[in-house]
Amino acid sequence: MKKVNNHMNPRRSSKPVQIGRVTVGGGMPIVVQSMTKTDTRNVKSTTYQIKELEDCGCELVRVAVPDTEAAQAIRVIKRGISIPIIADIHFNYRFALAALEAGCDGLRLNPGNISEPQKVAVIAQAAKERNVPIRIGVNAGSLPKTANHQLTIVQQMVNAVLQQIKLLESLDFDLIKVSLKAFDVPTTIQAYQDIAQKIPYPLHIGITEAGTPRTGIIRSTVGIGTLVYLGIGDTIRVSLTAHPREEVIAAYEILKSLNLRQHGPILVSCPSCGRAEVDIVKLAEAVEKELLKVTKPIKVAVMGCVVNGPGEARDADIGIACGKGKAVLFKKGEKIRVIEEKDFVKALMREVEEMTN
Ligand code: SF4
Repeated sequence: MKKVNNHMNPRRSSKPVQIGRVTVGGGMPIVVQSMTKTDTRNVKSTTYQIKELEDCGCELVRVAVPDTEAAQAIRVIKRGISIPIIADIHFNYRFALAALEAGCDGLRLNPGNISEPQKVAVIAQAAKERNVPIRIGVNAGSLPKTANHQLTIVQQMVNAVLQQIKLLESLDFDLIKVSLKAFDVPTTIQAYQDIAQKIPYPLHIGITEAGTPRTGIIRSTVGIGTLVYLGIGDTIRVSLTAHPREEVIAAYEILKSLNLRQHGPILVSCPSCGRAEVDIVKLAEAVEKELLKVTKPIKVAVMGCVVNGPGEARDADIGIACGKGKAVLFKKGEKIRVIEEKDFVKALMREVEEMTN
């Protein structure tokens, strides 16, 4: 792949936090995470879904812990998975203690529903003994009851984080990660920009309740993409009303589009127009489907004609520029041969396999 220009802001420096074997912050690559949609008490289906997430590159997984049984299930789930698991806790601090007891690698607490100092202190003590970090996960929809409603939502979110950090630091606990999510993208961006200047801890970025893939990916891309472009963010989750696999795929596409991570193939395909003499939409979809099997980074181009075709195809690791019933196959910028339309996908994928094996 040719070198790309990178004019992005430098990454904000943050304290590294260790979640199991994954380091978040401290200049490490931005970590991709997701959350299961299964009933955590159903160990079999939750383990299966986490394995599916691992297969598409998920690096941290969060599970809902609505009761003690779900917390205890973490112990068994952990035996069947290889990525660190984070327990998502609301309302009842005892579920956090049970999840720690079961071996969770991280906790997410919502200061909107667990903020009493005595309860936070008990959790912090148990987490510290196990070296387990806590994410202070503020959500615009569930701000603490004590929030000052005269302030803007952004100020209320930032204050909620700062108060919880103050409490944890007073307990000599600094294994902290922070998120401040809202559905509204400008609100989320402002909240992260504000908190990024005020604290040294790593930030988990996301747009909450972003919606179905059609709109949720766009909303998340604008929010997460803007922030990581500004150098803010150490781990990301794209929240989608869909199988969590889609969240991981979208998260990597955001990071790949900003040259922040390499993960699997990049497909360059022209939109097609009246000049195309082959069905580019069908061809690109077929290539995209085949590329799902490829895990190594490679840039593949599928172009419809001679206008931009040869240029883009040459720029890719492997690419085709189509004409009527034929295409020129380019490899690392060199024209290697002409292929027939019936062989487009097969010939391209044969080269991809050769280059990635
Ligand atoms: S590469 Fe050719 S076919 Fe594709 S959009 Fe551009 S002009 Fe149209």
